[in-house]
Amino acid sequence: MNRKTLRLLDLMYPNRCDCCMQSIPYDRAICADCERALQQLEISDTAWAAKQPEQTFPWRRLVTVYAYDGKAKAGVLAMKDGYLGFERWVAERLAERCRQVCAAEQIDAVAFVPGAKRNRLLYGVDHAERLAAALAKQLARPLRRDFLVNTAGQIKQHLLPAADRAIYAERFQAGTGEVQGKTILLVDDVLTTGSTMKRCATVLLDMGAAEVWAATATCRIPDMPMNGG
Ligand SMILES: [Zn+2]
Repeated sequence: MNRKTLRLLDLMYPNRCDCCMQSIPYDRAICADCERALQQLEISDTAWAAKQPEQTFPWRRLVTVYAYDGKAKAGVLAMKDGYLGFERWVAERLAERCRQVCAAEQIDAVAFVPGAKRNRLLYGVDHAERLAAALAKQLARPLRRDFLVNTAGQIKQHLLPAADRAIYAERFQAGTGEVQGKTILLVDDVLTTGSTMKRCATVLLDMGAAEVWAATATCRIPDMPMNGG
């Protein structure tokens, strides 16, 4: 499509920023204002771990981009609703950070925390799967959908207290894929207590994975002073 056609489409069907809904040019993933607000939410890999009561994790390293707040939270919610702008944006940032901590060739496969089947049927493709697919493409590594299964029905996990999350996490189980000896990049959208990611990483290691790296677009960090709206 040429630029003139795209500009015309822009007028008729404006491209919108997932984080604030204002219309943006067709070639942008998010608006410049939100881009600046997101910079304020960038966090280091250790910011989340520093706030956890338990300090041992099954993954070799955690890779993340933003604190789950403000425009990053708005972006993740849009991602869950099936919008692709923030997803594209954050997948690129996450891939950049993955490249900073390891060579992509070290990763044998990209897997993801699978959504509940019922949600998948209701909303189509799972957002963690889409994020993992975008990240796999960025890193040029294979995406594997057969490593983990979610045996749960529809549960709104964010409504569960921390103790129940650990029980909920039991629902993630080994899939049929061959993980023996593989280094796996495990992807999710939000890391909260970490119980889901810990469970999935442990399942992969029990299946014989050599190593698991955790990659999450955002981390919910308790008691962190936030701005960004
Ligand atoms: Zn915006």
